[in-house]
Amino acid sequence: MNVSKIIHAWYLENKRDLPWRNTREPYIIWLSEIILQQTRVNQGLPYFERFIKRFPTVESLARASQEEIFRLWQGLGYYRRAENLYKTAKIVAFERNGHFPSTYRELLLLPGIGPYTASAIASFAFDEPVPVLDGNVFRVLARITGNDTPVNSHAGKKVFTNLAKSLLDVRNPALHNQAMMEFGALQCVPGRPACNMCPVQKTCVAFQTRQVLKLPVKNPPKKSVKRFLHFLLARNGKKIYIQKRTENDIWKNLYQLPLLETKKKEAIKTVQNKMIKVFGLSSPPVFIKEVKHVLTHRILHIGFWETEEALPAFEAVEWKDIDKFGFPAPLAGFLENARNMTNFENYK
Ligand code: SF4
Repeated sequence: MNVSKIIHAWYLENKRDLPWRNTREPYIIWLSEIILQQTRVNQGLPYFERFIKRFPTVESLARASQEEIFRLWQGLGYYRRAENLYKTAKIVAFERNGHFPSTYRELLLLPGIGPYTASAIASFAFDEPVPVLDGNVFRVLARITGNDTPVNSHAGKKVFTNLAKSLLDVRNPALHNQAMMEFGALQCVPGRPACNMCPVQKTCVAFQTRQVLKLPVKNPPKKSVKRFLHFLLARNGKKIYIQKRTENDIWKNLYQLPLLETKKKEAIKTVQNKMIKVFGLSSPPVFIKEVKHVLTHRILHIGFWETEEALPAFEAVEWKDIDKFGFPAPLAGFLENARNMTNFENYK
């Protein structure tokens, strides 16, 4: 039996029962794949269930407001995904009569659909013989073949794509791709896989040459950039002030508190003086706390400040309506606590 066939047999015995398996419905496959990008299954599953319950069809998703989609997405991060999810839903619902394209090439033209997602939809929903390459599959291929080309390099993408094509079962690409992904997720895991119980150990080059923990090889990640963000919670009775992020930057189209960004870490007094100037305050805001939030290639140092002055240049919203807006995770957590600590009796 060749390696692919052994992994298929392993899959049929060991696969998890996930709601997006055993379906050919491209909407369900697409939605699950977008939610699961850079997200573990355990974390993504409740989001998938919430989305599919609220938006059972691509039309219902396309007719929702962006605010509602961002709110449901809150906590998953990488908001560009939610933005593209909405754009693609509109294209499929309104320009393609609710039908997803059925080929890898056409799927690639939709916002937020890259080679990985296009292969997943094309093979799972339409049986197109294209290999899926996610982090799990890269690892399985690198170990089984003993290939030490860095998986995150240009050359690596080419080498592993060719390897994946050579192993693909063209008569059953849906089963093959799901089997490879699941084998990497459950059996050939990062760290210490259970090689002694592995059905392909006899042909696995990494196991036979004691290279398991050295593969796959990855080039070191780019250095992270530090950013210093200071958000001002301006309380005005039952209202606070917010604004939408419209710049081409992190968290685009989400909401935030009035923001001051500094180039480096500044003393409290310096930030207070800058806030007085930028927001036109008559007295220094009070420093509440600082939190660190890590994104891909960025470390955010987020300071929270408070004032009771009005900020007419911003949008005033009542605390009770705050859930209608999508905020980035660190702001959503902060606002939740701040709201719970607000004594509205004082504002009667
Ligand atoms: Fe992965 Fe170990 Fe199996 Fe090789 S023997 S495929 S390294 S689990």
